[in-house]
Amino acid sequence: MKDINLDPEDWEKFEKLGHEMITDMTQYLKNIKEQKIWQPIPEELKDQYKQNLPQEGTDLKKVYEEFNKIIKPYNMGNIHPRFWGWVIGTGTPGGVLAEMLTAMLNPNSGGANHSANYIEDQVIQWAIDFMGYDKQASGLVVSGGSMANFVGLTVARNVKAGYDIMTEGVATSKNEMIFYGSDEMHSSLDKSMQLLGLGYNSLRKISVNEKFEINVEELRNTIERDIKDGKKPVCIIANIGTVNTGAIDDIKELSKIAKKYDMWLHADGAFGSMCKLSKESNHLVEGLELADSLAFDYHKWMYVQYEAGMILVKNKDYHYKSFSLTQEYLVHQTRGLGSGDLWYSDYGLQLSRGFKALKIWMTIKEHGIKKYGEMIEQNIQQAIYLTKLVEENHNFEMLAPTNMNIVNFRYIGTENKDLNKLNEEILFELQERGIAAPSNTVLNGKFSIRVAISNQRSRKQDFDILINSIEEIAKELI
Ligand SMILES: *Cc1c(COP(=O)(O)O)cnc(C)c1O
Repeated sequence: MKDINLDPEDWEKFEKLGHEMITDMTQYLKNIKEQKIWQPIPEELKDQYKQNLPQEGTDLKKVYEEFNKIIKPYNMGNIHPRFWGWVIGTGTPGGVLAEMLTAMLNPNSGGANHSANYIEDQVIQWAIDFMGYDKQASGLVVSGGSMANFVGLTVARNVKAGYDIMTEGVATSKNEMIFYGSDEMHSSLDKSMQLLGLGYNSLRKISVNEKFEINVEELRNTIERDIKDGKKPVCIIANIGTVNTGAIDDIKELSKIAKKYDMWLHADGAFGSMCKLSKESNHLVEGLELADSLAFDYHKWMYVQYEAGMILVKNKDYHYKSFSLTQEYLVHQTRGLGSGDLWYSDYGLQLSRGFKALKIWMTIKEHGIKKYGEMIEQNIQQAIYLTKLVEENHNFEMLAPTNMNIVNFRYIGTENKDLNKLNEEILFELQERGIAAPSNTVLNGKFSIRVAISNQRSRKQDFDILINSIEEIAKELI
């Protein structure tokens, strides 16, 4: 029998198709603003997503044609300049090419002696640099903020448990371990608590003030009460930019409290910590470096392609001890491919790991960190601009103070309609007509149109278009 493999039989044809894809990609990204942001998948097309398992191969060009027909037109739309839903990044064209090169090399960045691990080390050092974080810190490129939070809380639990929890588990704990954050915290922190065996109930949700920042006084009282009740306060979680409103907790105050009670301080700076890069706005996140661990995303407000996040841990030893478990088949050799000091599987949950660091490395090199600072400041200025448009128009009102890049507002230009219902309708219309894609939240019982600008393609006029379109849609609906 002939040996078989999965390489192309005709490499020239493969190359030609590759060129075609790059040409299409360039045209698509170049003209993305002319496209509808989003359109629902037609019912009659949905059968196309339920095909039988392919038994025989199809020419790759045919598969690409199918991609163009049933996948590309129904994309999420976050690469469009007027996508402002949740907190979602746009990616960059350079990042597309980086992803292609990553896929070509296809290394496993779990360990061993090869360039991918040196590049990961390089981007961690750069992050330590632009975050102004401890030079001795360790880090890990992860899939996103959720995983970064999980790693941070794991180290927090292990270090502060007061016994060998890694060996004995939570069952032998004498005192219930308690973590604290505000009730505006991200749900990934709840998930981490569950996975760490501590349970949702051990995550105290402290109320927030009118700026949606944690009530420090209530935090102190809750810790004191827990101690009296025989519980063990382990970790305070600081929000550096909440999802709802972009609120930033008083991290300096939280750091003092953590020190006083010998607790870990973890910062969830998924998108907010990027403020650090802006010369004009980095004062907003002052004190970030006080955190024992810092979680953030590249795929949100650094515009890097999905997925890419990072965790930094101030004490490298703590980080390493929480995740290194070297079996014989993984013993680090002194020479050859199995050598080297950079085994990132010793710093997180995954053994096999993709080379996510390359797109971070390439795009930071391509644009320079200064440009990223300017981009972030541009998004902040756009949020201020939109806030002004809202405040100067009597048909609108703000629903929360604008923090960084997040604007919460609603339409109020009528007295005869339920405003929650009306604003929800407006949002659906904006999205379904493919005009703009904010998302929504509820603030103090009011339905809010929520614009989060982590978009490198948005321009000032896009916000004029948003406000004008809302007025038009509202008139139609009333
Ligand atoms: C998005 C987000 C997360 C989760 O990050 P993912 O990258 O989506 O996993 C955590 N915290 C905050 C504040 C976020 O905005």
